Amino acid sequence: MRAAVLHEIGQEKLEVLDDVEAVGFGPGKVRIRVRATGLCHSDLSAMNGVLPQPAPFVPGHEGAGEILEVGDGVRHLKPGDRVVLCWLPACGACPACRRGQTQLCLAGFMNAGTPNFRRPGGDLFGFAGTGTFAEEVVVDAGCAVPVPEDVPFDIAALIGCGVTTGLGAALNTADVAAGSSVAVIGCGGVGISAVQGARLKGAAEIVAVDPVASRRESALRFGATRAVPPEELADARQQVTGGEGFDYVFEVVGRSATARTAYENTRRGGTLVVVGAGAMDDFLRLNMFELFFDEKRILPSLYGGGDVLRSYERTIALWRAGRVDLAGLITHRVPLAEIDEALDQMRTGTALRTCIEI
Ligand SMILES: [Zn+2]
Ligand SMILES: [Zn+2]
Repeated sequence: MRAAVLHEIGQEKLEVLDDVEAVGFGPGKVRIRVRATGLCHSDLSAMNGVLPQPAPFVPGHEGAGEILEVGDGVRHLKPGDRVVLCWLPACGACPACRRGQTQLCLAGFMNAGTPNFRRPGGDLFGFAGTGTFAEEVVVDAGCAVPVPEDVPFDIAALIGCGVTTGLGAALNTADVAAGSSVAVIGCGGVGISAVQGARLKGAAEIVAVDPVASRRESALRFGATRAVPPEELADARQQVTGGEGFDYVFEVVGRSATARTAYENTRRGGTLVVVGAGAMDDFLRLNMFELFFDEKRILPSLYGGGDVLRSYERTIALWRAGRVDLAGLITHRVPLAEIDEALDQMRTGTALRTCIEI
């Protein structure tokens, strides 16, 4: 079968090969025919070494497809079922799961060191234990979450990462208060989802901050009340908050420099929500006086910061009711063979989400 492969960390392009096999099928596993996958910024971060990931590997972790085959002991799925791939599956038994913080379950990560694919030349890993830039993938049954028939594959794929992450940051982690002021720094697919989440919660002002003009225009369509390039954030803060700073600032870039900007633009006693996935050697500097005296709350948000399956269900309900726009997030579509185009669209910021049809 075909899959897009990164041979070495640091390479900019992927090679689409047709001699790849999905391996590891057996008890407790399912084989999935991937139908659609989104390109998430974390895929690029894994390719360039910002996020830890062994190579060679098949990127892609935001996917949806249908079940081809189920292993012994798998009762909740059958061939033909439509599923979202969940790259952070919950075991249901560890302390984090029992507390309801299934986004903190590490059980699924135990598989990340095991190859998911094989070629005549050797083994390949799948990014984050999945690897959705492939026609087929074998995963633990817990990574395959059934979705209703009316959810198209491209929409289901978005729920697998970007939308869950961005919406959850606003709905779960920040729990944005009605009437509040919000700034969202970084307006790709995740940032726009945070904008939609803030709007759902009744934020009065939502300022979208992004250097790319097309993303700023998109943010306005999705509920931002104004959209500015980074150099105009100080003016917007003055106009919207009288200079005090925003009640909530979402950092959706994953860099210490933007996190510092976000911190400085949060009002005293306000909330900084860290959504972007950054590097292990990139340190955020805060002095101990400001940390104590300004009483700003710093809330990291991993994969939506709440129960993962509940977040999926909630997103589907909101989408069905027309309360969130998911189709509008897909600005580009490419077949797997043209995946490098998707990478370029992500790097230049022209896409909110590119859907790769497989
Ligand atoms: Zn992602
Ligand atoms: Zn667990």
